[in-house]
Amino acid sequence: MKNKFLISLTEKYESPLYVYDAEKIISQYQRLTNAFSGVKKLKINYAMKALSNISILKILKSLNAGLDTVSVQEVQLGLKAGFKPQDIIFTPNGVSLEEIEQAMGLGVQINIDNLSILEQFGQKYPKVPVCIRMNPHIMAGGNSKISVGHIDSKFGISIHQTPHIHRVVKNTGMLITGIHMHTGSDIYDIDAFLRATDILFDAGRDFDNLEYIDFGSGFKVPYKEGDNQTDIEELGSKLSKKFNEYCTSTKRDLTLMFEPGKFLVSEAGKFLTSVNVVKQTTSTVFASVDSGLNHLIRPMFYDAYHHIVNLSNPNGKKRFYTVVGYICETDTFGSNRKISEIKEGDILCFNNAGAYAFSMASNYNSRYRPAEVLIYKGKDYLIRERETFEDILNKQIAVNITL
Ligand SMILES: *Cc1c(COP(=O)(O)O)cnc(C)c1O
Repeated sequence: MKNKFLISLTEKYESPLYVYDAEKIISQYQRLTNAFSGVKKLKINYAMKALSNISILKILKSLNAGLDTVSVQEVQLGLKAGFKPQDIIFTPNGVSLEEIEQAMGLGVQINIDNLSILEQFGQKYPKVPVCIRMNPHIMAGGNSKISVGHIDSKFGISIHQTPHIHRVVKNTGMLITGIHMHTGSDIYDIDAFLRATDILFDAGRDFDNLEYIDFGSGFKVPYKEGDNQTDIEELGSKLSKKFNEYCTSTKRDLTLMFEPGKFLVSEAGKFLTSVNVVKQTTSTVFASVDSGLNHLIRPMFYDAYHHIVNLSNPNGKKRFYTVVGYICETDTFGSNRKISEIKEGDILCFNNAGAYAFSMASNYNSRYRPAEVLIYKGKDYLIRERETFEDILNKQIAVNITL
């Protein structure tokens, strides 16, 4: 997307603004399916918590993706977007049996990640097919907050508790049709993936009704020029071969599943903001934009890097800036960044703003959440309106207590 076009969008829809490139989502999806074209049955379930706008979900649906959901509300949104229940998998963590029952009632595939619920669910609904989230204890992931497969992680049932799983399955007579792992986000070490798959393959041998193996996600995407990323093609060729051999040796016709979020949508998103103030202190030049951790929390929450470009002056002299938000709290988007000279009113663009960006936005400081725009074949479509004061008041009840 060209600078001039992006700037024109901030004139049309105002700033701050999220912009998504549909073609990038499509090409990422095709890249992944091409990498695994050697596997007979492949299913990609989009992890919708990354970006859950219903128009984005519809694109993924048109591509034949399924959905990975983590709350019953996500299940409802997915159904609303037109996904069939059988194309939705519910992979929650630490939710109540009641919520799992609600999802079951909506007809979606249930994935259970602890022994307590597995036993309760199995006793009540032995006929309902269930997937088990296992924890292979492979240390992987970009940082400790997003590594979810290690020994002390709250996710999944430990691989060391496999005998206990089998006791529950035998006692209840429940039907286990899938096994699953998800070891974290930002993994670029393919060997970590393959080590974990060996563990899952071993575990799978003892489930007689297995129909699919879900290898989760965590593919690393580049955040800046020359940044490393998961080599999807190499993973595809190595894992496909292993998977096919496994199917042959176990005489099964299994489906290979993945559930990427970030890989599909991260690079498709750009977040456009306008510079309110340029402030020189004794040591630093700050550029303050009309946004903050209320709209894009990843830099502050995960120390995530988002590349920042000055769209209004792309060829200007490079200078060093610390880009901050307008929230009354430290909300630094990037420290000491080399950016083309910034003037007040310039439009700054944050890259990789598709995944965990809008979906983690809040109304902190009673600010509005931004609008979202989708671009397809050079045309722009508003897919979410900017909030208004009504939205801030919505659901609030003004009680006058007599003091
Ligand atoms: C968040 C999540 C994903 C997606 O992870 P990405 O790093 O965005 O690809 C996949 N599976 C589960 C169970 C998740 O919770």
